[in-house]
Amino acid sequence: MKSKFDICIIGAGMAGATIAAYLAPKGIKIALIDHCFKEKKRIVGELLQPGAVLSLEQMGLRSLLDGFDAQPVEGYSLLQGDEKITIPYPDHYRGMGLHNGRFLQQIRASALHNESVTQIHGKALQLLENERHEIIGVNYRESLTSEIKTIHAHLTITSDGFFSNFREPLSNNEKTVTSYFIGLILKDCEMPCPKHGHVFLSGPTPFICYPISSREVRVLIDFPGEQLPRKMLLQAHLDANVTPYIPEGMRNSYEQALQEGGFKVMPNHYMAAKPIIRKGAVMLGDALNMRHPLTGGGLTAVFSDIQILSTHLLAMPDFNNTDLIHEKIEAYYRDRQHANANLNILANALYGVMSNDLLKSSVFKYLQRGGANAQESIAILAGLNRNHYSLIKQFCSVAVFGAYDLVRENSANIPKATKILSDAFTIIKPLAKNELSAVAIVNGYFKKYTSAYFNAFGG
Ligand SMILES: Cc1cc2nc3c(=O)[nH]c(=O)nc-3n(C[C@H](O)[C@H](O)[C@H](O)COP(=O)(O)OP(=O)(O)OC[C@H]3O[C@@H](n4cnc5c(N)ncnc54)[C@H](O)[C@@H]3O)c2cc1C
Repeated sequence: MKSKFDICIIGAGMAGATIAAYLAPKGIKIALIDHCFKEKKRIVGELLQPGAVLSLEQMGLRSLLDGFDAQPVEGYSLLQGDEKITIPYPDHYRGMGLHNGRFLQQIRASALHNESVTQIHGKALQLLENERHEIIGVNYRESLTSEIKTIHAHLTITSDGFFSNFREPLSNNEKTVTSYFIGLILKDCEMPCPKHGHVFLSGPTPFICYPISSREVRVLIDFPGEQLPRKMLLQAHLDANVTPYIPEGMRNSYEQALQEGGFKVMPNHYMAAKPIIRKGAVMLGDALNMRHPLTGGGLTAVFSDIQILSTHLLAMPDFNNTDLIHEKIEAYYRDRQHANANLNILANALYGVMSNDLLKSSVFKYLQRGGANAQESIAILAGLNRNHYSLIKQFCSVAVFGAYDLVRENSANIPKATKILSDAFTIIKPLAKNELSAVAIVNGYFKKYTSAYFNAFGG
């Protein structure tokens, strides 16, 4: 059967709409399907790290951040007790804080104004296969008529997010909920460090905030555990672990936001990418890979994946050779693993660190010293440094520094120092195994760079 489209994209969210906006001007015929093209109010994807902004720039899509009051973010501030550390992003790099719904509408509009894009309102139901079990498109329920229709394409991109319906045939993923984020918007308040992302470490679990417009600040409060917080528990958590640590300049707006209610709660997942490579289909965005949002690394990973996949696809003369498309998909999965490993490991490792008193205090003191280590750490967080060696080095240095500091203070702290080292190892080992093992097969980094550290820790 002759395909009508080069690419069918399931889900016009951050991943699907952005790849459509990037590829469509190059003349690629795209079907872009979503069951909702209206602007949504979400608490996700509101802080773009500099790595994400850089990717947009490299794709020629930087202007999509203009015109809706998005705010530049110049670095990070960490607060613990009365102490504050501020670390700027490297060089001239900037992040952006924004309303995700507004940003997504700009991206969608940019994609849809291309003649080569066909907008389809509907819910994708099932991937279509030919007799050789190759994927040749999708069927969907059209929103207006409720009729079941089909789209045929040489390549189907599943970018239906978070609760993807298409993981089963295309991956071996195992999804876990690490914690929940409770989202509030504070109006007209003063953050301790304007134009910065903030991580508040005084309570037993962290909360973060950053500007999303000239008058609004997003606060995301961590609620640990796998269970959706019930109202009573949520209130008790806010009262005991958050409210006492809200800085003076944000207090009134915070109280007001609590009174108005209407805050949203979202689960924070970890899901390593474990694709099954099938002819005719590829996964993109949260459908493929998720990490804790504490570091705001999600969109850096999504945009970087779009660049990698697009570069491979654009190297083909056209979309008629299914074997060649298959080769390009394999190359994308291989290359993206390397590009995103740092983002994935850092997000969940840092969450583990922030939930561990000894390590949390150690990371604070380590960064407080400033210098090259703080700079290297912020470059990793920003998504600008993707070197695995840097990440493992910084992570292990924090643990060793914390252990050394404790023993230097008092030799009776040796058991605590040992605990820091073993906790750090327990946090990093499964993440490094998950995220770096596939890379290792490709480029041998894992053995070269990490074995020395793991041996040192007795692993
Ligand atoms: C609480 C939280 C906070 C976060 N904060 C940040 C942050 O500050 N910075 C950052 O970089 N990342 C952040 N992230 C991660 C980031 O938001 C995601 O990585 C990103 O939104 C993923 O984009 P996506 O396109 O894969 O999914 P989505 O943006 O969710 O898009 C999926 C799209 O698919 C559509 N869809 C779903 N099913 C179907 C179907 N069957 N048929 C048709 N359409 C369908 C949906 O309507 C939607 O439009 C956060 C995540 C969470 C959970």
